[in-house]
Amino acid sequence: MDPKNKNSIIQKPCSRRTFLKGAAVGLASLALPAGNADASVWEAFFQKHFKEMNDDEIQSVIKRLQKEYADNYGVNFNIKNTKPLEGTLFGYGLDLSRCIGCRRCVYACVKENNQSMQPQIHWITVLRFKKGEKYVSNLEESEAYYAPKEVPEEGHFYMPTQCQQCENPPCVKVCPTQATWKERDGIVVVDYNWCIGCRYCMAACPYGARHFNWGSPQRAKQ
Ligand code: SF4
Ligand code: SF4
Ligand code: SF4
Repeated sequence: MDPKNKNSIIQKPCSRRTFLKGAAVGLASLALPAGNADASVWEAFFQKHFKEMNDDEIQSVIKRLQKEYADNYGVNFNIKNTKPLEGTLFGYGLDLSRCIGCRRCVYACVKENNQSMQPQIHWITVLRFKKGEKYVSNLEESEAYYAPKEVPEEGHFYMPTQCQQCENPPCVKVCPTQATWKERDGIVVVDYNWCIGCRYCMAACPYGARHFNWGSPQRAKQ
C-alpha cells in the first residue's frame, strides 16, 4: 500500500505507544543507516499492521465521527473525503503591496475553520513592520499584536503569515509518523488522528504555521 495514504485502518489493536515502540524496534533490529532506514522500515510496519480502507469503510468512519462530534459539541459537522484533483497544482499568492493589515483574513479563517476561541488560535498571523530597509527582512522586528485605531498606518507595512503550502515542506520531512504529507495537487495536509503531538513540525516550519491546542475545543461565540 501507499504509506502516505491515510485512508487506513488498524487490522490489529495497536495503541500509539505500541506503534512507536514497534517502529523503534524495527529500526534498531535492521540497523540500517538512518537516512536509508526510514522508508523501508515504515513500509514494512504499515504492511503488517494496516490496510487501505474501501469507500464503504471510509463513509462509515465519517458517519461515526460526525455523530461523535455532534454529540460532543452540539454542532452539525460536515466531514468530506476530498481527494487530490488530478492535473491540478494549487498555488498560493499574496500581494503584500496591497495588504492594509486589517486582519479580516484572520477572522474569516477562524470562522471558516471553527478555530479555538479559548485559547485563541489563529492559523493566520498578520505581522506589522516599520518601513525602512533595516526592518524589511527581520521577522524579529515585527509585531503580531498591533492594535491601531485604523489601518493602514503611516510608516508601516503588513505581512500575513500562514501555511505557504511549501513545495518541499520541512514539516513533512520531520514528522515521525507521517501524519502530515503533501498531496499530489500541492496541498499539505494533516491527519489529526495520526498526529502524536511531538511538535517537530512546529519547530521545522519557517513560517510559524503550525499551532497546537492542548485543551478541549471551545465553540466560537456567535
Ligand atoms: S490583513 Fe491584508 S491580506 Fe488580510 S484581509 Fe486585510 S488586507 Fe487582506
Ligand atoms: S506548515 Fe510550514 S513548512 Fe509545512 S507546508 Fe506549511 S508553511 Fe511549509
Ligand atoms: S506534531 Fe507534527 S511532526 Fe509530530 S506527529 Fe504531529 S504532524 Fe507529525
